[in-house]
Amino acid sequence: MQDVVVKKSKINGYGVFAARDFKKGEIVIKWDISHQLNKKDVDKLSNKDKKYIAYYKKKYILNQRPAKYVNHSCKANTYIKNFCDVAKRNIKKGEEITGNYSEDKHSGFEMKCTCGNKNCRKTIYL
Ligand SMILES: [Zn+2]
Repeated sequence: MQDVVVKKSKINGYGVFAARDFKKGEIVIKWDISHQLNKKDVDKLSNKDKKYIAYYKKKYILNQRPAKYVNHSCKANTYIKNFCDVAKRNIKKGEEITGNYSEDKHSGFEMKCTCGNKNCRKTIYL
């Protein structure tokens, strides 16, 4: 059984949606971290591809499906732990999975947030 499905999102392009209920603390998505880049490689990417970079534990990871389609939200329902997206609260089947992109300004990349939450940070760091 699939845990998540990728489909069109209201936030931005495609998004990842829960295909079943998740309990708080459960792993929702395990990242495929086989594609790691250095800063030089990342600089060569187009802005579109930079979106798929996750900067975590000083590593630049080119996220694979489905993790690459997780949209940022300033009110995310998952957090990152050991290269996994973990449920921050109970998540119902059908809900969009959202992550809180790095707040680490040292990654060197930023983009506008379109999550639409009241407390939106507006600028997010990849
Ligand atoms: Zn936001």
